[in-house]
Amino acid sequence: MRIAVLSRNSQLYSTRRLVEAAQERGHEVKVIDTLRCYMNIAMHRPRIHYKGQVLDDFDAVIPRIGASLTFYGCSVVRQFEMMNCYSLNESVAIARSRDKLRSLQLLSRKGVGLPVTGFAHSPDDIPDLIKMVGGAPLVIKLLEGTQGIGVVLAETEKAAESVIQAFMGLKANIMVQEYIREACGADIRCFVIGDRVVAAMKRQAMPGEFRSNLHRGGSSSLIKITPEERSTAIRAAKAMGLRVCGVDLLRSNHGPVVMEVNSSPGLEGIETATGQDIAAKIVAYIEKNAGPNQTKTQGK
Ligand code: ADP
Ligand code: GLU
Repeated sequence: MRIAVLSRNSQLYSTRRLVEAAQERGHEVKVIDTLRCYMNIAMHRPRIHYKGQVLDDFDAVIPRIGASLTFYGCSVVRQFEMMNCYSLNESVAIARSRDKLRSLQLLSRKGVGLPVTGFAHSPDDIPDLIKMVGGAPLVIKLLEGTQGIGVVLAETEKAAESVIQAFMGLKANIMVQEYIREACGADIRCFVIGDRVVAAMKRQAMPGEFRSNLHRGGSSSLIKITPEERSTAIRAAKAMGLRVCGVDLLRSNHGPVVMEVNSSPGLEGIETATGQDIAAKIVAYIEKNAGPNQTKTQGK
């Protein structure tokens, strides 16, 4: 097959591994810089141009769209879809995964375990919003944050009130969530390919920190997940319409709860923690599932 990896940088670990895996399995693979794709949207002839050439002969694309490039990146992926090229994750699914609130709304409809979460617009509703999620301590999150930035733990109701007021004053979109204390600063990243969890790792926050993101100094290790956690991750991926994703779970005293679903999950942490060749599994999935007319919208 001819496969394109849509990525800003061919030296990134995940990009390199996907290229290696595709080559090892006998495919022709090229890294395409997402931001250098430009598009022709003429009737009946959707095209993508790249550095002066027309890109029209890929069988599949693997989008690796960074959070800060969501809008342009999703437009490029959508254009590949319009050309009937298979995308590992679809543009609509990537776009919905980038809004934490939209994601939780979709997951809640499908009965996936979630932390009690609230959102509101008016400062007048703050006291009731805090009550609704069970009072302090609680977690306040920017809807479009990543890597743990924009996730705040408010220990008291007074603190929660003033932080929420400050975010509202800045016109930032936020949600408010029950604090899952019993997770003890750990979360579980389940790596989903198709309808299987192919690997899982535990991430533990640094002492004194509740956010377990590796970018915030968290450390990862191998973990055995329960059947309930496995099925939660698979149902979350399905509800989001993502074929390949990282589902982050917390172990709460009301069962596994989903924090977020990442549509461009990094490979380095999970391959290192589990010793598995995840890149090869992704390419094998593409071999089995790619084809024209596979670009209909998945999930809702
Ligand atoms: P980001 O997308 O920025 O990583 P997350 O919502 O995943 O944001 O939160 C970052 C980390 O903070 C999580 O991995 C988890 O360790 C911790 N965390 C987030 N929400 C909660 C919560 N409601 N209760 C306990 N810990 C939380
Ligand atoms: N690559 C980062 C991760 O997997 C985030 C990418 C994204 O926002 O999808 O943690």
